Amino acid sequence: MKKVLLINTNTEKNPYPVPPLGLCLIAAALENEYDVRVYDGAFDGGENLIRTVSDFRPDYVGVSIRNIDDMDILNPTNYIEPILNSFIRPIREATAAPVILGGSAFSIFPEYFMKYYGADFGVFGEGEEAFRLLLRCLESSGDPSTLPGIYARGSTGCTIPAMNADLTNLPFSEIDLKIDYAPYRARGSYPVQTKRGCIHRCIYCTYNCIEGFRYRTRPPARIADELEQAAGRLGHAAFEFVDSTFNDPAGHAEAVCREIARRKIKARLRTMGINPCNATAELFELMLAAGFAQIDCTPDTASPRMLLNLRKNFTVAELRETARLVRAFDNPTMWFFIFGGPGETEDTIRETFDFIDASISGKDMIHMTFGLRIYPGTDLHQRALDDGVLGAGDSLIETRFYISKELGRESLFRLIEDASSVRPNCVPVTESNPSPDMMREAIRMREEGEHAEPMFRTLLRLRYRMFGKEMK
Ligand code: SF4
Repeated sequence: MKKVLLINTNTEKNPYPVPPLGLCLIAAALENEYDVRVYDGAFDGGENLIRTVSDFRPDYVGVSIRNIDDMDILNPTNYIEPILNSFIRPIREATAAPVILGGSAFSIFPEYFMKYYGADFGVFGEGEEAFRLLLRCLESSGDPSTLPGIYARGSTGCTIPAMNADLTNLPFSEIDLKIDYAPYRARGSYPVQTKRGCIHRCIYCTYNCIEGFRYRTRPPARIADELEQAAGRLGHAAFEFVDSTFNDPAGHAEAVCREIARRKIKARLRTMGINPCNATAELFELMLAAGFAQIDCTPDTASPRMLLNLRKNFTVAELRETARLVRAFDNPTMWFFIFGGPGETEDTIRETFDFIDASISGKDMIHMTFGLRIYPGTDLHQRALDDGVLGAGDSLIETRFYISKELGRESLFRLIEDASSVRPNCVPVTESNPSPDMMREAIRMREEGEHAEPMFRTLLRLRYRMFGKEMK
């Protein structure tokens, strides 16, 4: 059996470490035909990579590139050089096996990464089928450059792959069987997809460029099977549904929750995307019954004008109703807002904070990003060119942000600073990384059983103390 080594290069751990779901799904898709090993560089930063390559002696090496930078507008960290130095170069030193790139960052800048990393091949978009077809083609000495979704050395493009329309038989990632899952248990959660794709067109988003503009849902029974098996192995672990929007299309999330509740699966659940357009009391009841301990809600703004400008798919009334349901069902929630998009003014920012003050509990965290990272191919990219924020030749590999002309950088920063200085639960992205002391104290409080709650709430309690207040 030929050997495939798949490498996770994502070392970012904020706001929490993310287990390598895509890589483990590719491993699962390949493991009937190949001897597959996953090397997780998240916690050792590539320290044991050369030894792993030398011991395993792979015939093919897959390298996943998830992030280009950390989207921090004040002190951006770019990952391109660290990945080159800690992963790509050591791989090349240790083996002559073909290097195959993939992952979401690769899919946004495929030609750049192919060239800069000197890769042999690259897989655009979802990789389970494309990676398998590439290896088969290489085994039979075919020409991989003709395969959909595959970049070969020197390619300037690829045929866009037909996405796997039917996800019924998507394999289970079984992440915990492929990597050491222990370091993820304290702050991370086990990722599960209930669907792929997104039908919405938020102006800054690259999600649907990679996963497609329509929903491809997985059967609720398969999702519950996956969860049940993983929960059986991991005990009472935390699981996260990592869909773009968990509750869209209407009805699917409800069916998933019903199936989990029916089977009485013991798991702490969370999801990163409750969309206000389909948030109903029935959904919240079902989420509670299924075992949701936390949700994330990502409205980006509560200003009617900015909802239109960002092309969000819901209204302020729907957003208010979502906030009412969050409070009524007492569901711990992290809210995500972005400030500074096209047309943002002092007035629209005030509208968002008026909503926060009126509708969101002080025990829920408000995560505030300012400035929108510009990615190629998005409508925001075009808007940035039209507004003169970018020049035609400017590279987006450099971390570039859009900030509304009406505000400018200084005013935006001042407004966010003023707002967060009087609201302990409003955390600017630049302060979202807890200090080691804060993290230690939060872990101590949780281990001593002071608070049975999501980690973000424990961290918020400590933040309130920094403000000389108690969280109520
Ligand atoms: S709803 Fe989310 S995933 Fe869909 S386009 Fe908007 S930001 Fe992207």
